[in-house]
Amino acid sequence: MPARPEPRPGVMQIEAYVPGKSAAKGVHKIHKLSSNETPLGPSPRALQAYRDTDHLELYPDGTAARLREAIGSKYGLDPARIVCGSGSDELLTLLTNAYLGPGDEGIYTEHGFLVYRIAILAAGGTPVVAKERDCRVDVDAILAAVTERTRIVYLANPNNPTGTYVPFDEVKRLHAGLPPQVLLVLDAAYAEYVRRNDYEAGLELVATSENVVMTRTFSKIYGLASLRLGWMVGPAHVVDAVNRIRGPFNVNGPAIAAGIAAVQDEAHTAAALAHNERWLAWLTGEIEALGLTVTPSVANFLLIHFPAKAGRGAKDADAFLTARGLILRRVEAYGLPEALRLTVGSEEANRLVVAALAEFLKAPVHA
Ligand SMILES: *Cc1c(COP(=O)(O)O)cnc(C)c1O
Repeated sequence: MPARPEPRPGVMQIEAYVPGKSAAKGVHKIHKLSSNETPLGPSPRALQAYRDTDHLELYPDGTAARLREAIGSKYGLDPARIVCGSGSDELLTLLTNAYLGPGDEGIYTEHGFLVYRIAILAAGGTPVVAKERDCRVDVDAILAAVTERTRIVYLANPNNPTGTYVPFDEVKRLHAGLPPQVLLVLDAAYAEYVRRNDYEAGLELVATSENVVMTRTFSKIYGLASLRLGWMVGPAHVVDAVNRIRGPFNVNGPAIAAGIAAVQDEAHTAAALAHNERWLAWLTGEIEALGLTVTPSVANFLLIHFPAKAGRGAKDADAFLTARGLILRRVEAYGLPEALRLTVGSEEANRLVVAALAEFLKAPVHA
């Protein structure tokens, strides 16, 4: 008998998720470009709805009915097929707990979002990693990793931290190759940013199959990361399973109120999208012109690759930028030790990053 309580197998294998930094020592003004938050902030209407929420002594509506109706009418979905969560992270964890346990396998891709790995291990399952090709998801590698123990395949589309996406034809090919008992989770946290004709977030597959779920978030283009709000849509039987295990009041009242206003403020979302389109293209071009490699991104961030040379690597660049108040994200935990992820920021922040990178690349290297 152990002398003290022992966590279940798998728990101590988890490397706790490390959020993007938000401070730099000794630097007065910082630009946080490390967690893919929108530089435009939330819709003023969402902020007002949040501030107008009173009666904090009362429990919120545990089914978030009005929010599910607002989401349903925006996307043409049956609100009964929607579940809201405290961020989509919670929904990813709930799906994992509902469908995967000890001895079961969950598949995600080489540079895929790390929350999947944490959820699988926390549920006592076995993480299985499918190789990518040049920071792109390889559908054949995922299909080759499927065994009779596979329960869930997680696909972030677009993926974080690479910013690449899987065209809809390929998502359909992936789905067609999966056994019917495997749940395909399409994590579309950045769907609103994608401007590609061959992209589809997942609604069509959810509507036409019994084993596909799509998750979405209010943390990115809607600018409500601090409130923790996400949603999923899926077949009735999956919605039923998730509703049985979620906390009865998992979404708070201010989040419900702000979420409703946010989905209805289409002008604000359009402004955030227009800002991103302009500055994603500008940043990509300017950073490539400095001689660095940038993975082509369709999201609101981009992955910058540094040469593995003394004094010029990602770690050096990170220290140089942080000292100037520019906080990017190191991604070594994602198998990308020589890359940094940059969130598209305000015009001021974007210009400062490019100028600082130029300075970094010219600075003498001290051995
Ligand atoms: C940011 C992000 C999410 C959203 O998480 P929330 O819990 O909704 O804040 C989900 N998936 C990916 C891939 C992300 O990058």
